[in-house]
Amino acid sequence: MNNSTKKKSLPLAGQIFIALVLAVIVGLLMQSHADFTAKYIKPFGTIFLNLVKFIVGPIVLFSIMAGVVSLRDIKKVGQIGGTTIIYYFCTTAVATAIGLAVANIFRASFPALSTSSLTYEAPASSSAMDVLVNIFPSNFLVPITESNMLQVIVMALLIGFAIIMLGEKVAPAIDGINRWNDIFMKCMSMILALSPIGVFCLLCPVVAANGAMVVGSLAKVLLAAYIAYLLHAIIVYSLTVSTLGGMNPVKFFKGMAPAIMFAFSSASSVGTLPINLECSQKLGASKEVASFVLPLGATINMDGTAIYQGVCAIFIASCYGITLTPSQMITIVLTATLASVGTAGVPGAGMVMLAMVLASVGLPVDGIALVAGVDRIFDMGRTTLNITGDASCAIIVTNRLRKRNK
Ligand code: ASP
Repeated sequence: MNNSTKKKSLPLAGQIFIALVLAVIVGLLMQSHADFTAKYIKPFGTIFLNLVKFIVGPIVLFSIMAGVVSLRDIKKVGQIGGTTIIYYFCTTAVATAIGLAVANIFRASFPALSTSSLTYEAPASSSAMDVLVNIFPSNFLVPITESNMLQVIVMALLIGFAIIMLGEKVAPAIDGINRWNDIFMKCMSMILALSPIGVFCLLCPVVAANGAMVVGSLAKVLLAAYIAYLLHAIIVYSLTVSTLGGMNPVKFFKGMAPAIMFAFSSASSVGTLPINLECSQKLGASKEVASFVLPLGATINMDGTAIYQGVCAIFIASCYGITLTPSQMITIVLTATLASVGTAGVPGAGMVMLAMVLASVGLPVDGIALVAGVDRIFDMGRTTLNITGDASCAIIVTNRLRKRNK
């Protein structure tokens, strides 16, 4: 990643912010023409989302293959992978618990929205065992065509391991993987250059259809989620980065600022990968660690998504007049941790996985319709936390490796 990308990325984050504000203003002005915005503005937002989804498969496949190959030793991949996965799981479970705790404190002030006319077409929900079986691909192309990210990761690991085992014999393949990785990263930055238009076209119809009320009535729920995001960043990442990563947390957050801004505005962990790689390495993460840990994290590590799922579960339960029991809360911690693993790093993915969390404790999946209108606002914060967690892991794993090699 060269400097010119960084120079371009900062103004882009600003442009996206302006697009957000404009979308709200235009949406409010177009309230009496909501049909028009849904018919003629929303499709451009859909085009943008489709392009992001299109590029995610190849990006994850090639960046993880390139990361594994750069480690040159399967045992090393295993060590790094093991530490990474334990860190990702533990922080995500803690994140869900923080989300649930904050939402419970806020519960009394959550609005009691009517649930009588709700309809949300949830995707077929899957059990935890289905999620496990689904990690392993049964076909070479389907994981990519269906954007099944966990299967793409398994493919990338298998192919990466094979390349390491074959070594010098397949040197041109190693070079090829690195070049293709560069090509897809470039495609990603071209697509993300369209983010301001995408954000505007996605949000404007939502505001036009629902008005400012949509944010107004959910302000407390959004606030609860953002407080939990902040608490997780300030408490958990500061603690892990300073104790396990040997780095001053202030330095860490400052160094992460460009990636944080980009994630906040793009709402895509995978889209933020190139900038996150750059920021983490500037902070001292080694290239070989970052290029394996970050793409993996952009796909499976979603602390912000887990918090959002915890907060929304409590809010939706309260709208239905249901009080969750402690054992249901524990079920939410487990399923939200799994659900966030299965969430792709693209805008809006976490909301789809919320269905699995709600279903696990018997809450009506239709309740998702209550929060769908402001999903983008939840998503901006949760993506920011998601990528910050990935970077904290890169710093920690690098520090551990350095200590071990001393
Ligand atoms: N947008 C999030 C991300 O890319 C995923 C989600 O929707 O929770 O990290």
